[in-house]
Amino acid sequence: SPSIVWFRDDLRLADNPALRAALDRDEPVIALYVLDEESDGVRPLGGAARWWLHHSLASLAERLLERGSRLVLRRGSAAHAVREVVQDAGAGAVFWNRRYGGPESAIDAGLKSDLRAEGVEVASFAGSLLFEPWTVATGSGSHYSVFTPFWRACRALPAPREPLPEPREVPGPERPPASDRLEDWGLLPTGPDWAGGLRDTWEPGEPAARRRLREFLSDDLAEYDRARDEPAAGATSMLSPYLRWGEVSPYTVWHESVGVDGAGGFLTELGWREFAWHTLFHFPDLATKNLRTEFDAFAWPRLKPAHLKAWQRGRTGIPLVDAGMRELWHTGHMHNRVRMVTASFLVKNLLIDWRRGEQWFWDTLVDADAASNPFNWQWVAGSGADAAPYFRIFNPELQAKKFDPHGTYIGEWRGDADLEPIVDLRETRNAALMAYEDVKSAA
Ligand code: FAD
Repeated sequence: SPSIVWFRDDLRLADNPALRAALDRDEPVIALYVLDEESDGVRPLGGAARWWLHHSLASLAERLLERGSRLVLRRGSAAHAVREVVQDAGAGAVFWNRRYGGPESAIDAGLKSDLRAEGVEVASFAGSLLFEPWTVATGSGSHYSVFTPFWRACRALPAPREPLPEPREVPGPERPPASDRLEDWGLLPTGPDWAGGLRDTWEPGEPAARRRLREFLSDDLAEYDRARDEPAAGATSMLSPYLRWGEVSPYTVWHESVGVDGAGGFLTELGWREFAWHTLFHFPDLATKNLRTEFDAFAWPRLKPAHLKAWQRGRTGIPLVDAGMRELWHTGHMHNRVRMVTASFLVKNLLIDWRRGEQWFWDTLVDADAASNPFNWQWVAGSGADAAPYFRIFNPELQAKKFDPHGTYIGEWRGDADLEPIVDLRETRNAALMAYEDVKSAA
């Protein structure tokens, strides 16, 4: 009886433990992807993510076909769709790599026990994180809320396992179950085609992910620690969407970087990715609720829609903020330093609730994920996991002087140079500090 590999955020063949388990069973392999826009609590993908997913699935399907299997696409509630394919194919086993969000874990746990009760073999594997969240605990058994001790604890655990090789063949069944057509899913923009900048910037899929990793290790890693904060330097890996969609495994990235001179800072960034996901695991409402509950006392003023819109469109009159927002809109990506500055400006200078900004990033980033995006928004807002939870306000003018001293990045993404700033940086900073007094007294 065939084995099903249910692909989710792991759209790759190399280092895919679920796929390896299916191949080891020596039965035909059915590769399945389910577009789930129905299950309770599962967050609908943003526009840029849908674009990426389309191309990533097309690439995966092609690679599977070359190896003997057809990717089966189904749409609907995941639990229902997987069970349907099990029945259609008479499958004897289902394998997947674990997910860590609340609603997703609940779906997977329910499906696992239902299928097992029907005599179907089910197994899940660690493929998306280097350390399983339940293996990292403080001395008193609870989870970490500060990065440095968290990462120290991770590094004290056994090192991440070696990545698994890519299978040369993935033999499919003679008659694969019916599949939707990817083109019919409507993941690509219609009407206005806003994806031109994405196409110019990115090539989704596992082969491109491997190439990017190789180039980064040979050309950029040595300069990473020195130049990673400069948005014009092109010194960071640009691996985030590939990691987000699992087109490259964190185990592969880890093992290929760990021996390289000067890799320490880069590996620590992978640690932040782990920390964000572990935080989501322990706090499933990360995208909607303040991690630090005293922040519930923050009195957000009434939303000024024109301010939100100016921020989204890169028309605030603050050059670094506008450059970042224009880079995001055009490429589906923004440099980390600039993400911090634009987020801080929205929350601290425009006094707009971080959830509005998080939602915009969710819709426009190709790397948007359910953990890193809200985690970092909360970190910037001050409501999140932070070693020194004080009210951090980035000054976008000083940040530009320091990290873009020649104005290269701002020049590249220059907006309308004649715009006047929509707010006064000093006045709004003071207003934010006053509003923060309520949080301090609630703490
Ligand atoms: P590199 O510097 O090369 O880092 C290597 C990898 O480490 C990244 O690809 C990423 O997987 C991970 N990483 C680095 N920094 C962080 C971080 N702070 N938190 C979590 N993982 C990190 N990253 C996302 O992957 N998805 C998001 O939705 C996301 N939203 C963000 C929102 C805000 C407001 C901020 C301030 C940051 C956000 N980040 C997010 C983190 C970071 O900006 C990006 O991971 C980074 O810019 C990606 O570029 P890179 O791959 O070249 O990074």
